[in-house]
Amino acid sequence: MFMRIILEYIDYHLLPLFLLFIAIVSAVICIIFYFRQRERWNKIEQDILGEREFYHTFAVNRQESFLVIQKSDLRILYISPNFEQMTGIPGERVRADIEVLKNMVTAKEARNIIKQLKEWDGIHELKLEFAYKTMGNDNMAHGYAVIQPDEENVCYLAAFGDNTQDYKIRSALKEQLEQAYQESQAKTDFLSKMSHEIRTPMNGILGMLSLAKVHVNDPKQTSYYLERAESLSQFLLTLINDILDMSRIESGKMELEQIPFDLYGVAEKLDSMFRSTTEAKQLRWDVQMQDFDVCRVIGDELRLTQVIINFISNAVKFTPPGGAVTVTFRQMHKIDGKLHLMIRVRDTGKGIKSDFISRIFRPFEQEDASTAHHYGGSGLGMAIADNIVKLMQGEIIVESEEGKGTEFVVYVSLPIAEGDQIVPESWREEKITEDVQERKKIIDDFTLDGVHILLAEDNVGVQLDENREEADKKEGNGLEKNETEEIIE
Ligand code: ADP
Repeated sequence: MFMRIILEYIDYHLLPLFLLFIAIVSAVICIIFYFRQRERWNKIEQDILGEREFYHTFAVNRQESFLVIQKSDLRILYISPNFEQMTGIPGERVRADIEVLKNMVTAKEARNIIKQLKEWDGIHELKLEFAYKTMGNDNMAHGYAVIQPDEENVCYLAAFGDNTQDYKIRSALKEQLEQAYQESQAKTDFLSKMSHEIRTPMNGILGMLSLAKVHVNDPKQTSYYLERAESLSQFLLTLINDILDMSRIESGKMELEQIPFDLYGVAEKLDSMFRSTTEAKQLRWDVQMQDFDVCRVIGDELRLTQVIINFISNAVKFTPPGGAVTVTFRQMHKIDGKLHLMIRVRDTGKGIKSDFISRIFRPFEQEDASTAHHYGGSGLGMAIADNIVKLMQGEIIVESEEGKGTEFVVYVSLPIAEGDQIVPESWREEKITEDVQERKKIIDDFTLDGVHILLAEDNVGVQLDENREEADKKEGNGLEKNETEEIIE
């Protein structure tokens, strides 16, 4: 009974004291824990501060910059001063918000980095490679970051470096390797194709010769077979010459002559060389000489002609009947005793696929496997032309639209030859007169009798004043396609 009274008394009077006691004990434990934790962080910060000097000394003049990132909250504890130099982002900004680093990379690159970080085991070293932009610079650079935890597993140590130069070298080497692989593949294909290409005319020649022998008493038949054998031999010779030229170029043994020659002579030769072929194929054919006041230059006439012949042969080959092939020689300007010359071969043929244009000058390349089958050829002409023009320090520009036609333009500058420069005016005049007369005839024959004309304009009531018409004519504009149409008859 007595005990019960005491317990009730304690219950009633000492419960608050008991609770107070519990609270004090908890507070003491928390304070002890807090101080111990602070001590630990202080130690880490002390360590880092201690190491900062070391990092600073270490980071100066280094190709890499360093970051120490607290693992628990990704707070940046240290950032080496050269980080700003490398990225243009001030260290304080990164310290204030590590997210600012995201601005250095594209959204896609950021996703890729985050994915790799998520998959990282957090123990072993992680190397990230990425394209990044430095502040105030729009060009992309290439960099890497190496991340690993410190010994106590409290911080991440990260090194950041720029390997743009390395990346460029690696990419160039990769490209060269790819190109070498493609060239070697093209050569292998070429060799297997060539063995077929050489064997076919050879068999043809042998066949024609044996037929000629059988019909030796029939002069007409014999001469037919001999003519066939001759043209096949000619084809074979061209092919072998191309192969020899190519191997001469590849071994660096092709040398150019420096002899005076006449550009009008070249144009004349080309004109007569292709006149009958183009006529037979029903192609409009024109060779034009524009703006010349000098015509004798010094260079390798044969090689220059070879280049143009190759362009013209292709233009003729790839242009169907009814199309046109035009060759234009133009004097651009004269500087320091040199004539800057443009030679353009334009056709209205089948054109070239845009993805092939970048490969057109590679040896042994043709647009597709069926080209050789349909049009013949070896795919060497363009590579030879390109190399010859490069030896002349010139350049070739190709423009083409599938189904519309192709234009090859060669720019070279050749020293002007000493002595008389007799520009044959009559050659040009004759051509222009022919041209003008032909155009005049077309205009004279043209009639509007019985023709209904549809004019369309999207601004209702617009006046086509004379000035507008003039401007349109000058700019080569037609009337635009309209939403509302007015019909004027
Ligand atoms: P080849 O004519 O002997 O095949 P080239 O090196 O002269 O070799 O030309 C390479 C390829 O470029 C041709 O096979 C053809 O596919 C393309 N090509 C060249 N010129 C033209 C052109 N004027 N029109 C269309 N394709 C062309």
